[in-house]
Amino acid sequence: MTSLVQTIELLKAGNVVALPTETVYGLAGNALNSAAIAKIFATKRRPQDNPLIVHVSGIDMVRNLKLHIPPLAERLAERFWAGALTMVLRREADCPLPHEVSCGLDTAAVRVPDNAIFLEVIKKTMFPLAAPSANLSGSPSPTTAQHVRDDFGEEFPVVDGGACRVGIESTVVMFDDNDAIRILRPGAVTSEMLREYGNVVTDEGGSRHSPGTRYKHYAPRAKVIAVQADAEAFTERTKHERFVIANPETSTLFMFLRQYDQLNADKIFVRLPERSGVGAALYNRIIRAAEFEVTQW
Ligand code: AMP
Ligand code: MG
Repeated sequence: MTSLVQTIELLKAGNVVALPTETVYGLAGNALNSAAIAKIFATKRRPQDNPLIVHVSGIDMVRNLKLHIPPLAERLAERFWAGALTMVLRREADCPLPHEVSCGLDTAAVRVPDNAIFLEVIKKTMFPLAAPSANLSGSPSPTTAQHVRDDFGEEFPVVDGGACRVGIESTVVMFDDNDAIRILRPGAVTSEMLREYGNVVTDEGGSRHSPGTRYKHYAPRAKVIAVQADAEAFTERTKHERFVIANPETSTLFMFLRQYDQLNADKIFVRLPERSGVGAALYNRIIRAAEFEVTQW
């Protein structure tokens, strides 16, 4: 396991290190350094047009990055940071983030992770950290240090912070001119929670505003069968199946998908939750892992 001292050294030298957050493990690199950004994309084999989330210690760091903070964003930061809310903000002309972070867009995504180790690393390096999920692009996100090593090799530098509390990626929002909150990716900060702060619109397809939502995502090697059924019907129909997730939860969904792959599952049956509260985020991850096919029982 990589120590905090080694981590700081690696990051200062422009290398990448996997770090725990409360959502999923992140593949962190200096967000101000183009070479570090390039390493993140190469390590993950991430498509070049899928921008990165920049992790900061607080709103002051966002100000230093010369991102435009509308009053609504300020209120959301006060309420939800540190936490699973990523905000897409407009870059001002003197924004020091390299364009590779934003993949050429005129915006950048920022978040304060709710994890003491991660925040300590930002405090020590004093720079913001770009940190997409620490997995090979397309596979289920990593929620333990071992998941990171399963994708990047046993020698890969990762700080072990235990299993991630939330277990799915942050909610991503942007702001419309009319002060609406547009959810680009659902997460643990739900639309019900955001509604108190303004009109909420959801980008179902998402692709126009958030490049990342276009790609195959969260998929294990096994075929995921997303099922709409009540608990009883689901249990009855899957009673002879070995690889089943009857009541998906954010903290264990990706863990089960990865575990079943290791057991050489060919099919994984997952019951879809109600799309309210955090169920909306779970639903999103499951249908994307199932490549948008839904089976009704
Ligand atoms: P990941 O880092 O793997 O959790 O993915 C980051 C998510 O945030 C992806 O869905 C990206 O498309 C989205 N994202 C990051 N930066 C921006 C941006 N500037 N505009 C819109 N979406 C963004
Ligand atoms: Mg990801």
